[in-house]
Amino acid sequence: MRALRLIADRQIELADLPDPPPPGAGEVQVRVKAVGLNHLDVWGYRGMAFAKRKLPLVVGAEASGEIVRTGADVTGLKPGEKVVMYGAMTCGTCAACREGRDNLCENVGGIMGFHIDGFARDLINMPARLVIPVPTDVSFRDAACAPIAFGTTEHMLFDNAKLKPGETILVHAGGSGIGSVAIKMAKALGCTIITTVGDDAKAEKAKALGADHVINYKTERFEGVTRKLTAKKGVDVVFEHVGGEGFNGSLLCLKRGGRLVTCGSTAGPTVTINLMQLFQQQYKIFGSFGCNMRNIRDSLAKMAGGMAPIIDSEFALADFEKGLARLEGRQVFGKVIINF
Ligand SMILES: [Zn+2]
Repeated sequence: MRALRLIADRQIELADLPDPPPPGAGEVQVRVKAVGLNHLDVWGYRGMAFAKRKLPLVVGAEASGEIVRTGADVTGLKPGEKVVMYGAMTCGTCAACREGRDNLCENVGGIMGFHIDGFARDLINMPARLVIPVPTDVSFRDAACAPIAFGTTEHMLFDNAKLKPGETILVHAGGSGIGSVAIKMAKALGCTIITTVGDDAKAEKAKALGADHVINYKTERFEGVTRKLTAKKGVDVVFEHVGGEGFNGSLLCLKRGGRLVTCGSTAGPTVTINLMQLFQQQYKIFGSFGCNMRNIRDSLAKMAGGMAPIIDSEFALADFEKGLARLEGRQVFGKVIINF
C-alpha cells in the first residue's frame, strides 16, 4: 500500500509499505479516502524539538474512509460503511475516556500523524471504538473535516466558551480551516460575528460565510475596530488560535466577564498577561485541544443538515507538501484536502 512518511524535518516520501494484517478483535480495517490538513501537520512537518516521536512517521491527522473488513467482536460497523476516525490513541478505560472526555485521556498513546503513525496511507487498522459512522449524504471530502476542523471548533465554542444565541463573538483568522467553521457555527446559532482576515479578497469571502463585520488586520488594528463596533463594550467571546502579539489585543476586545478560548499559537506561543486586567475584568480563558467523540458525531450531524465545510483546495496524495505550503503561507480560505 501507499503511505506518506515524514523521514526528516521538511522531508516527506511516498513509500510502498506492506498492507496491515487482518483486523484483530475489536478492530476494523479502513481504506482511507480523504485526509484534511491542519496547522498540526505544518508543526509536525517543520519539526518540534519537544515532541516525543520517532521517524519515519506516517503523516495525516484527520481522515475519512470506508470500512473494508471487521475483526471479531465488532458490532455496529460493517464493510462498505463510510466512517471517520478519532485522531488520538486514547486508552478507552480511564475515568476521562469512560466519561466521554476523550481528549483528556490519562493514558493517551499520542496524536496520530504527529506522535504516532497517521492516516496518509491506503489502509489502516483502528480500534472500532475510535471509528464513527458518517451519514450517507456527507461526502468523504467533507467528512474528512469532521475530526479536527469541525470537532475542535465545536468543542471550543460550545463545551468551553459556552457560546449562546445572540452573543457577539470575535473569530480570529476567518479564512483558516477552523475560523471558517467557527463563523458558520456561530452564525447558525444567531450570533453577531466579527472576524479578522489578512487581505481584502478574503474579507469578501468571510462576509459571504456570514460574518457581520470583517477586519483586515494588516491595515487596521483589530482591537480598536472591535471596540468601536461594540460601542466600547467588547465582545462576549473571542475565538483565538493565533497567539503572539495579538493575544493581548484579544483580551482588550472582551467584555467584562468575557470568555476567550484558544487552541493554537501560529504567531507564537509566548505572551505576557497583565494579571490586574485579568482579574479586574474577570476574564475567563480556556485552553482547548482536540475534541471528544461526541463533538465529531455532532459535527457530522451538522454537515448532514447542510453545514458544509469550506474547501480551499484539493490535492493528490503525492502533492501533500503543496497543500502544506498553502497552509504555511497563509494562502488558504477554508480547508485543504488530500484525496486518495
Ligand atoms: Zn483514557
